Amino acid sequence: MALPQCLMREIQGKQAHDPAFMEKGISKTRCEYVDGPVIVGAGPSGLAAAACLKQKGVPSVVLERSGCIASLWQLKTYDRLRLHLPKQFCELPFMDFPTDFPTYPTKQQFIKYLEDYAKNFDIRPRFNESVAHAEYDCTLRLWRLKSVGAKGEETEYVCRWLVAATGENAEPVMPTMEGIGDFGGCIKHTSLYKSGEEFRLKNVLVVGCGNSGMEVCLDLCNHKAKPSIVVRDTVHVLPREMLGKSTFGLSMWLLKWLPIRLVDRFLLIVSWLMLGDTARFGLDRPRLGPLQLKNLSGKTPVLDVGTLAKIKSGDIKVFPGIKRLKRHTVEFVDGQIEKFDAIILATGYRSNVPSWLKEEEMFSRKDGLPRRAFPNGWKGECGLYSVGFTKRGILGAAMDAKRIAEDIERCWKVEANRNTSLLPYSLS
Ligand SMILES: Cc1cc2nc3c(=O)[nH]c(=O)nc-3n(C[C@H](O)[C@H](O)[C@H](O)COP(=O)(O)OP(=O)(O)OC[C@H]3O[C@@H](n4cnc5c(N)ncnc54)[C@H](O)[C@@H]3O)c2cc1C
Repeated sequence: MALPQCLMREIQGKQAHDPAFMEKGISKTRCEYVDGPVIVGAGPSGLAAAACLKQKGVPSVVLERSGCIASLWQLKTYDRLRLHLPKQFCELPFMDFPTDFPTYPTKQQFIKYLEDYAKNFDIRPRFNESVAHAEYDCTLRLWRLKSVGAKGEETEYVCRWLVAATGENAEPVMPTMEGIGDFGGCIKHTSLYKSGEEFRLKNVLVVGCGNSGMEVCLDLCNHKAKPSIVVRDTVHVLPREMLGKSTFGLSMWLLKWLPIRLVDRFLLIVSWLMLGDTARFGLDRPRLGPLQLKNLSGKTPVLDVGTLAKIKSGDIKVFPGIKRLKRHTVEFVDGQIEKFDAIILATGYRSNVPSWLKEEEMFSRKDGLPRRAFPNGWKGECGLYSVGFTKRGILGAAMDAKRIAEDIERCWKVEANRNTSLLPYSLS
């Protein structure tokens, strides 16, 4: 939308004193006023927010740093990935998965679903626009965002509402390990791992025993590599299905009737009957039950898709924490020393919100997640929102998206009824 003259003058005045703009020169920075929310990130959460807003008649602009929607799924996941949860728990608002999709859709099917979703709601993200800075301007009473394009070109967006949808998995977590520079073999994060094919007959150490680490080990086995896994902490491994139902679905159903403590006890008994004592294979369970732990710390239980059987059969070896690395060698904290050709870091991801959002009330600088616990983390002050930071996957994102759209719609309608511009009164 063309920027009203008075607002343009005000922003240019501000740009003239902003070091980032002074370096580039004001004239090179395009400025655009968005009559509606700006959503940062075109993953499932950003798409869900845009669709929910559209259903309420509120237009939005979606900014995405990569060249496609759902870049995490398209660019940073391994080939064998399927949804960890049954499809009915991974649907975005207003659109079911196709009935011919399996219970656990493949990554390609999930991407197809998201592409159809964007098409269906006519969501056209602006690709290759990485938001580098966003700050609330108290004088203007508007958010000002700076995005950087593929060729370094800058755009300033000015808007009343800002929706952070950059995800809990925006940046890979790379652990520090003594001697990492001396190792000499391939070391890569799971975000760069595609398939075990390139590791055929190689000794590979997978660091981290979450869902990704366990699945990568299985994939390596299936490609005739010789994987080992580092299990530093306690972990809950549950069968993906129990009593003919998905463990997740069954848990949700039981939670309607029973306290979480009892549901946890039930899950642990059935897991013990089905999988045996996982501690015997080096996978000690935490003291808290899987659902209580998830609620308190966000730590997700591993849903076993066959890795445990390979651990039991000795095809995958389990090691404790790493002490140091040497040339193609890993020394573990219990004194064991083993040779490896490669290391895969299944050490997770973190939010990047603190790197671009200059705000400290809603989001913690420490972990980049909303300070307020679920379900209250979606709304901040001055028109700031977050979608997809609940540690509850796509289901949590869908809940956030609906709430955000309802909240913005209320304000949008009031303004529309007054028949005024959405600009603050001082500027309109
Ligand atoms: C391997 C794996 C499997 C998972 N399986 C499931 C599952 O089965 N079910 C489930 O419910 N959940 C699952 N999750 C968790 C979660 O639901 C997904 O990660 C989901 O993709 C989260 O969506 P999102 O949109 O919040 O974040 P993302 O998918 O990470 O999308 C965020 C987008 O924001 C963009 N972005 C980041 N920073 C900027 C910036 N500064 N400027 C502009 N754009 C930016 C990114 O490029 C990205 O496209 C899984 C996660 C992983 C890692």
